Amino acid sequence: MLIKFHKETRLQGIPVSEGIVVARVCLFNERRHANLPIYRVTGDGLERERNRITRAVALAVDQLTALKRDVASRVGEAEAEIFAAHIMILQDAALHRQLLDAVSAKYANAEAAIIAVLEENESRLMELDNEYIKDRASDIGEIKRRLLDILGNMKPSLQCAGLPHCQKGRNRIIVAEELTPSLTLELDVEHTRGFVTERGGKTSHAAILAKALGIPAVTGVSGLHSAIGCGTELLINGNTGEVVVWPSEQTLQSVTAAQPLPALTPDDALFIADFQVMANITSAAEAAEAQAMSAEGIGLYRTEFEFFAAGRLLSEEEQYARYALVIAAMKGKPVTARLLDIGGDKSAPFFNIAPEENPYLGLRGGRLLLARKDLLAAQARALVRASAHGPVQVLYPMIIETEQFVALKKMFLEATTDLSPGRLVHGVMFEVPSACLQARELLKIADFASVGTNDLIQYLFAVDRNNDRVSYDYSPDRRVFWDLLADIASAAQETGRTLSVCGEIAGDPAYVGKLIDLGIRTVSVSTKLIPRIRQAAHAALRRKIPNPGSAG
Ligand code: PEP
Ligand code: MG
Repeated sequence: MLIKFHKETRLQGIPVSEGIVVARVCLFNERRHANLPIYRVTGDGLERERNRITRAVALAVDQLTALKRDVASRVGEAEAEIFAAHIMILQDAALHRQLLDAVSAKYANAEAAIIAVLEENESRLMELDNEYIKDRASDIGEIKRRLLDILGNMKPSLQCAGLPHCQKGRNRIIVAEELTPSLTLELDVEHTRGFVTERGGKTSHAAILAKALGIPAVTGVSGLHSAIGCGTELLINGNTGEVVVWPSEQTLQSVTAAQPLPALTPDDALFIADFQVMANITSAAEAAEAQAMSAEGIGLYRTEFEFFAAGRLLSEEEQYARYALVIAAMKGKPVTARLLDIGGDKSAPFFNIAPEENPYLGLRGGRLLLARKDLLAAQARALVRASAHGPVQVLYPMIIETEQFVALKKMFLEATTDLSPGRLVHGVMFEVPSACLQARELLKIADFASVGTNDLIQYLFAVDRNNDRVSYDYSPDRRVFWDLLADIASAAQETGRTLSVCGEIAGDPAYVGKLIDLGIRTVSVSTKLIPRIRQAAHAALRRKIPNPGSAG
């Protein structure tokens, strides 16, 4: 390895999860399997290698089961399901057979058989043009690494080289090539102060997870992993995307002076009359956390994640159980449950959607639901039944025009005529420019609305939200974006409808004042960001309406 940086060096990445941190680096061990023993076996050796595979698979299942339990209690059930998927793959009898056959057929030792079989499976999936399946390919990559670790008795993930400042895995910033959801969760979160990665999008699901965990993260810093050693000191600024290698005393001082903000707890949360801070969640476990952080409701429940977590379609009954848990956890506060937003990077084979040339502009969100009455009907019924436990705001994703919203709402109502809802209202997500341009008409027929700025930026500027090569154009800092938002906000005021913003900009304190200036009084953010956003809103409102007596 060629260590390139020995003195202060500033690098620019993409900010992914807010916060500033200075700590030493633990490198994720990307190449620890480079020199594995690969040899030919014959005779008794064949049986010995097959047994090594069987034992490694059993041990991997044990490790993953323990990890799943731990993640379920520390982070949430939905996140823990990532590891359930790994367990399922490992327990697949056909895969096990393929591994054993590779030993016999190729006279391969266990390591060689695992590499051959799993890499072939991995690359077959990578060739398919489907982001969900590509994620499954990276699951197979992770399983391969776990099995090779077990066989080689290696340290699972970090490349602690014992250099002078090695953190031995404690209080570290993890530097890896790619931030995957399992990497985010699997490495001991308590000792992780930050993440820097070379690849990965700003609104990728791993990034959303880093935010939910409240860990600052920067991505898109190419070449960093191979250019620094373990124990290197880094300053990462998850607000601006700047990464400083070996920051000087002066740099550190200027950062501490500018950032005296201590970590905020819910007790520091200032309740502000006339400004609601709600939570973005994907599961019931996160709803409990939102409640603990005093969220004023759930502003975005990404229900499709319940399906991804389960790895299959969920029946009406199964959906009802999950939604009822979330609604009950919020104890009477509103829960904005978004109807399945499938398509684009959020797809899965079990939805049975034929491959598309351009899935971001294909069967996605509302358009997909119109085509899939089965999905909409089961979810509508589950939500209506769950509304007996508390108020539900049904949010329709990727709406493009009034007619589409009317048609979807009609389907929803037709599927639930025999059920009597509790408090349940219907709202529109503004994330497609055509819908934003007819905000008035849509707000007249909707009960509420929420702006999904993640997709709105993507579609407004024709820039892929997950592609770090074009991320310079993925920015809300453009006049036309704020003009559009201002127009939606005035339409909401004219029609008397509640408008919230639930995209990632709502969780960025830098934009809170601007949203308030537009008259927006509800935002929905990752739970960990709630106190910080309340604080920013409080400051912005105080500037707008000074305390009596504070002037002169
Ligand atoms: C958005 O697009 O801003 C949004 C909140 O939805 P998602 O990130 O799930 O697409
Ligand atoms: Mg969206």
